[in-house]
Amino acid sequence: MKSEATRIYEALGDSGKVTVLTGAGISAESGISTFRDSGGLWEQYEIEDVATPEAYAVNPSLVQGFYNTRRAHLGTVQPNDGHRALARLEELLGDRFTLVTQNVDDLHDRAGSRRLLHMHGELYKARCAGCGVVVEWRDDISLDDRCESCSASMRPHIVWFGETPFYMEKEIPDACSDCAVFFSIGTSGMVYPANTLALKVKAAGGFCVEVNLEKTTDSGIFDLQLEGKAGETLPLLVTELENLTRS
Ligand code: NAD
Ligand code: ZN
Repeated sequence: MKSEATRIYEALGDSGKVTVLTGAGISAESGISTFRDSGGLWEQYEIEDVATPEAYAVNPSLVQGFYNTRRAHLGTVQPNDGHRALARLEELLGDRFTLVTQNVDDLHDRAGSRRLLHMHGELYKARCAGCGVVVEWRDDISLDDRCESCSASMRPHIVWFGETPFYMEKEIPDACSDCAVFFSIGTSGMVYPANTLALKVKAAGGFCVEVNLEKTTDSGIFDLQLEGKAGETLPLLVTELENLTRS
């Protein structure tokens, strides 16, 4: 890990910025199923039946039930060493650090990450289908729950397939064109537009690192690949970066 950390440290320089993209893989060691895990929650459903605006229009109770189950499960799991390592990296770099997550869980938040963009929304929030107001929401959302401002129905604050992710107009593109080092952690690279971010970074001359259990279809883009569990790889890497910074 020492030589990999040194390459990252050299690419970063004294004032370079780090942008991190995480996916379902970083939360796998906490006990949340990834998208394509066999035996996972998603395997029992077709994506089109639970994670699209069309599904919600046709069968809102099935869609609400799916997210209610996931929200309830989230209360039973904890952040892991991978989430905590990224919070430590933020402490080390301050405003030179941005974390973009595709995850709708709150495990990065609970681990202490603050410079965090939830590009696909958050399970612990609900949004009014009418006026768009977003509110904190820990319980099940029912079809009878109504917006306090306009009385329209409440939906999960989740970006479904076919909808535009949050922060894509400015914050995320800026963080990609502006960073010296980009990490893609625990993501299969199958979901658009998250899977275009590493290319944006490469086009702007940044150094790209992939952390994953295995090679992905996008692995060719990356300057460095760290194969292994995020919860094991990231603490070692961040410790090395801390040592290099202090030496
Ligand atoms: P994905 O399920 O398509 O891919 C997960 C990737 O993580 C795989 O490449 C796998 O090899 C890797 N991985 C698994 N365990 C790992 C570990 N311990 N360490 C490192 N890597 C590991 O996930 P995705 O690319 O994020 O796409 C899934 C979509 O579904 C996203 O849009 C996301 O919003 C949503 N989703 C979110 C959650 C969550 O919030 N925790 C969970 C499932 C799906
Ligand atoms: Zn409303």
